[in-house]
Amino acid sequence: MSDNNNYDSVNFIQKIINEDKANNKYDSRVHTRFPPEPNGYLHIGHAKSICLNYGLAEKNGGKFNLRFDDTNPLKEDETYVQTIIDDIKWLGCDWEDRLFYASNYFDKMYEYAVELIEKGLAYVDDLSADEIREYRGTLTQPGKESPYRNRTVEENIDLFTKMKDDVYKDGEKVLRAKIDMASPNINMRDPVIYRIMHQTHHNTGDKWCIYPMYDYAHPIEDAIEGITHSICTLEFEDHRPFYDWVLENLNDFKEEPTQQIEFAKLFLTKTMMGKRYLKQMVEEGYVDGWDDPRMPTISGLRKRGYTPESIRNFCEEIGVSKSHSVVDIAMLEHSIREDLKLKAPRTMAVLNPIKVIITNYPEGKVEYLEADNNPESPEMGKRKIPFCREVYIEREDFMEQPPKKFYRLYPGNEVRLRHAYFIKCNEVIKNDNGEIIELHCTYDPETKSGTGFTGRKVKGTLHWVSAEHSVDAEVRLYDYMMQEEDFDKTNFLEKLNPKSKVVLNGCKVEPDMLNKKIEDRFQFLRHGYFIIDKDTEEGKKLVFNRIVSLKSSWKKKK
Ligand code: ATP
Ligand code: MG
Repeated sequence: MSDNNNYDSVNFIQKIINEDKANNKYDSRVHTRFPPEPNGYLHIGHAKSICLNYGLAEKNGGKFNLRFDDTNPLKEDETYVQTIIDDIKWLGCDWEDRLFYASNYFDKMYEYAVELIEKGLAYVDDLSADEIREYRGTLTQPGKESPYRNRTVEENIDLFTKMKDDVYKDGEKVLRAKIDMASPNINMRDPVIYRIMHQTHHNTGDKWCIYPMYDYAHPIEDAIEGITHSICTLEFEDHRPFYDWVLENLNDFKEEPTQQIEFAKLFLTKTMMGKRYLKQMVEEGYVDGWDDPRMPTISGLRKRGYTPESIRNFCEEIGVSKSHSVVDIAMLEHSIREDLKLKAPRTMAVLNPIKVIITNYPEGKVEYLEADNNPESPEMGKRKIPFCREVYIEREDFMEQPPKKFYRLYPGNEVRLRHAYFIKCNEVIKNDNGEIIELHCTYDPETKSGTGFTGRKVKGTLHWVSAEHSVDAEVRLYDYMMQEEDFDKTNFLEKLNPKSKVVLNGCKVEPDMLNKKIEDRFQFLRHGYFIIDKDTEEGKKLVFNRIVSLKSSWKKKK
């Protein structure tokens, strides 16, 4: 379940910051960063990290950087850089003029590696990747020292220079930190800090054939930018001793080095997370791209209809903690409902129409009836809805042989049409196959909405649209990506929800929908919240996505 224990309390990272400020550490500065690898789209987990880092900077009068962690040319792609920028801007988090690329620090990282060699803290190793693994030992067994470990500083400088100068093939040599092969923490057993990789880099081109390893590069990136609190996720906890080791051993950074703080990743029920898996779904065609509204990507949530506010509020509410947890996706849905409740105008849409002919209503007559745009937000005003002799109602709002407690339309029963009149069903018209094609009803002119009619009550109220004036629309109903609440990631493709996308055509919406814009959001009475999708073409068919249904299964716990 969710991290509600953190709600309302100052999170543990803010507590660390408060202490640092009290001790005048970092001159009381707070400087955070978000460091994405440009190897996929951002997802809601990243949004949590962005909101956390940006929020801490904002609340503490500090600064927030965006830094592309592009130290691995094998996996990265320039095309992801722009979508990441767009997504973070859309979320409303601002790095001002502080957009950086880790690859711009390659020269510095090289110089710092030379400094470590000169201090006798790094050496060039000729062991192969397999041998290094073998020598590393296990959790219960200490590692073995490489026969190359005791090379002289001069020899190491010479070999490292040659590594840079393209003398060797990939994998022939590596640079390693010289720490302790018997350390109980495997990450401290002489980790590799540079490897040879003949790869073109999206930023530095072919300038380099050696690239720094993440664990070595990251603390340097943070320290160069003057980051005070380097916030990352729990899987890096065991890497922290090496993070600290790097900065403590470099002259530029050993005074008040950046501190790494870990928090638990966000996971959602019924949702696959992790760029690797999302990428696989995109590449193998299980979804319609990275921004498919079923995806937990920021661009998917945006296309689905989520607002930046709802995502930021969600991230705030779930809090941060040190222990792994899976948040109920119902909480994310709760957050968008809360945001749209007062903001989204209400309108009527018939998703599966059946025609109703009001036989006692004059042919050719049109009345414009008044309707509140949102009774909970009177300032949103009113609109006029055309009413005439033929209207559409929802097919499932009629039953020829109703069960008990069915209060909607059936032969002989009277219901209210929202914002209009009471109607009563008199006759059911069928085609030769016995399918219902029309309902013949009569209306009572005395029962007009807004006139204060109190003569009698009806139990059912239906939404409807004018058959003559309504507009055709395509409506896409989305459901959870995964069938199970929680699942393990093996064979996740077999666990996808086959009904996660249902496309309805021939839906009918109110005529003023033609005057709305892409990304406008509405509440369709009784159906949920919807957004006009960008697939809507000017002057052509309207396309709506359902953001979320109206019912909530999640209630805020105090
Ligand atoms: P993934 O596991 O989805 O592939 P990643 O960690 O490899 O993500 P990066 O681009 O390296 O993606 O991450 C950028 C930042 O986002 C990191 O600081 C990382 O810890 C954080 N982050 C990634 N996933 C989550 C998550 N589920 N919840 C919170 N923060 C996350
Ligand atoms: Mg990563």
